[in-house]
Amino acid sequence: MASQPTAILSVYNKAGLLDLAKALHAQGVKLLGSGGTAKMVREAGIDIGDVSDITKAPEMLGGRVKTLHPAVHGGILAQTKKDSDKQDLAAQGYNPIDIVVCNLYPFEETVGRDPAPTLAQAVEEVDIGGVTLLRAAAKNHERVWVLSDPADYKTFLDAWSKGGEAAQTHRNQLALKAFTHTSNYDTAISDYFRKQYASTSAGTSLVQQMPLRYGANPHQKPAQAFVTNDEMPVKALCGSPGYINFLDSLNAWALVKELQESTGLAAAASFKHVSPAGAAVAVPLTTEEARAAFVDDLGSLTPLATAYARARGADRMSSFGDIIALSTTCDEQTARIISREVSDGVIAPGYEPAALEVLSKKKGGKYCVLQIDPHYEPDLIETRHVYGIQLQQRRNDAKITKDLFKNVVSKEKSIPDSALLDLVVATLALKYTQSNSVCYALHGQIVGLGAGQQSRIHCTRLAGGKADNWWLRQHPRVLGLPFKKGTKRPEKSNAIDVFVEGIIDAPALVGGEERAQWEALFDNVPAPLSAEERKEWADKFEGVCCASDAFFPFEDNVHRAARSGVKYIAAPGGSVMDEQCVKAADGHGIVVARTELRLFHH
Ligand code: 5GP
Repeated sequence: MASQPTAILSVYNKAGLLDLAKALHAQGVKLLGSGGTAKMVREAGIDIGDVSDITKAPEMLGGRVKTLHPAVHGGILAQTKKDSDKQDLAAQGYNPIDIVVCNLYPFEETVGRDPAPTLAQAVEEVDIGGVTLLRAAAKNHERVWVLSDPADYKTFLDAWSKGGEAAQTHRNQLALKAFTHTSNYDTAISDYFRKQYASTSAGTSLVQQMPLRYGANPHQKPAQAFVTNDEMPVKALCGSPGYINFLDSLNAWALVKELQESTGLAAAASFKHVSPAGAAVAVPLTTEEARAAFVDDLGSLTPLATAYARARGADRMSSFGDIIALSTTCDEQTARIISREVSDGVIAPGYEPAALEVLSKKKGGKYCVLQIDPHYEPDLIETRHVYGIQLQQRRNDAKITKDLFKNVVSKEKSIPDSALLDLVVATLALKYTQSNSVCYALHGQIVGLGAGQQSRIHCTRLAGGKADNWWLRQHPRVLGLPFKKGTKRPEKSNAIDVFVEGIIDAPALVGGEERAQWEALFDNVPAPLSAEERKEWADKFEGVCCASDAFFPFEDNVHRAARSGVKYIAAPGGSVMDEQCVKAADGHGIVVARTELRLFHH
């Protein structure tokens, strides 16, 4: 067996090649190269043999087969400490190979070119032998050096002949790099072929990829959604989702699925900017709630329509242009409610034919109708890229059920079943809301949600303000606002909002254009709600649940919640102020359940 070390050189990127070859040759290493690599080294006057010298077979098929041969791979993979391996090599007259220098055809760069290459051109860029060289050498890194990146040549030259533990550590790192190189290479190849053969746009039966209109903003192109195993669980029956639509759809679906699982009731959610504007389960609406949610003209509602009317009615302003999720097959009545609202899309496990017909006519046929496999279970580990770095975590698979609220730490202890239901709704909503978040719920629905604030009290105030607004919208004077016939629903929602918030009566607006436009919506201009009317109405707001995605750091949150009819609070403990918060709650007669479950979501 030859004692002279041998290196195989087969590189697409020939940067640094000549310096490396010269140095290896000077250190007594026997060099063997594939076609183009050997030619370049030889032309520089450095002594190098051809791979075919040891394979005794010419490169063939126009270069498709260059190094794929047992003389190469036996030489790389042999464990020379094993007698049987040495005997195997000797029997064939092969020698061990000690160094593999290889980098791959530029697949990603080629398929990214404009104009795009043909499929046949892309296929030719799939490197076979190079990947095999790298994997074989990386696998046998206990003995073999593998150089997959020209940037590593110099440090390798300084270190390789020294041997010992430091050399092994160096080989380990080079092997990891080679494995990562081939892994990234295969990722690029599978991404390309997924788009060709398993995309919704390819009209195929196996769908793993869906092009998205654009990313978070129109200039962020291209954009796509894909899975790498099984099939894409979501398909577009109509329209084409954008990136944020997809984020909303997945979060909203997860929420309604879990709401239904936990409560046994049909559930719906209305998402905007990856937080719920509303979410609800099918608790029948009171007459006032039906009027405030603009569904009083429909008579009795199906459970799913009830849930959506509640979800949409939670915060009509925020729900403008929403993504809707439905926990069960969309029926015609629910579709009809959706069809008259301004909305971007809906996701559901199925659609009755009549419902699909209604929805597919919305937005001139561009309304986004997504169907999700209700049995789809995401992997337990989720990965995302942020600023080029991959982040990985266990998915938040915590179950939210009524049992979560058993640990009651306040003087008042009793939580009726209806409040337990509302606590489930509020807490589950937080699981899918951008943090920090605080949610108020009543009658099986969100009534106020504060999302994405950096301070908790701002969440509590924001959510409380929305809850107050929701309640005031059921005031008899609001329900009876004399809108002119033909006023559109969004115009009504906007006009009601500035009315209940008292904005339209601000002195600065009186006599101005905004006020005039508002007045023009009514047959008779309504008088503002007086302070007494507001107070009298607010006093009737009671039995509200409030959940927080993390502990309350100060008791001001509890006081604020109490002012919006909150009777039940659920939050994880852990603050040094826990005791004061519970004391504050006791002062208001509020029941506090300590969940010990933080629910940050980003
Ligand atoms: P060269 O320029 O030396 O002719 O080719 C170098 C390239 O060929 C490297 O990118 C290497 O990954 C690739 N390569 C090495 N062996 C084989 C093989 O057996 N088949 C194919 N298709 N490519 C190979």
